[in-house]
Amino acid sequence: EVVVLRLGHRPGRDDRMTTHVALTARALGADRAVLVGEATQAQETVDDITDRFGGPFDVTVTDSYRPLLRDWAGTVVHLTMYGEPVEEVTPTIREHHRSQPLLLVVGAGKVDFEVYDRADWNVGVTNQPHSEVAALAVFLDRLFDGTELDREWEDADRRVIPQATGKRVEEVDE
Ligand code: SAM
Repeated sequence: EVVVLRLGHRPGRDDRMTTHVALTARALGADRAVLVGEATQAQETVDDITDRFGGPFDVTVTDSYRPLLRDWAGTVVHLTMYGEPVEEVTPTIREHHRSQPLLLVVGAGKVDFEVYDRADWNVGVTNQPHSEVAALAVFLDRLFDGTELDREWEDADRRVIPQATGKRVEEVDE
């Protein structure tokens, strides 16, 4: 299991970013996203996408990340520009993930030091400042070694048929 924990949602300002963190988590193979703060708008958007385009993918909202982080029975990875290079540490993280669930933490504003301290790995996708959405996408693709790009979606009511040009969407009747 891979769960993405999105810290520090600032209402209004972070709505789109939080939504994009969860949509990217869903599209690229995570099982669940946990959003901290007043993120019910993002939750509704992602649930709606999962209803239409399939799952399974679960998104929940919580007031505090601390209990989840503290009690996580598995590996904790924190994505941060100050961390160790993704290309160096991901093979070892992948090994651990074979037998343990993985909590993948991304920030928004300033991240408390306790998160760096609790993480088994602090991982940088380059040591340049950029975006939690981009860092998440690169990390998940490295973790799954590209296999996440080719998966079946369950309970979708529509499916995109890839086209060289234009758009084609099919209703799925099951
Ligand atoms: N100013 C914040 C700080 O110093 O912790 C970081 C803000 S950044 C816009 C939001 C999040 O994007 C970070 O918490 C981190 O999870 C992620 N992020 C940004 N750049 C990253 C990088 N190079 N590697 C990994 N994650 C990164």
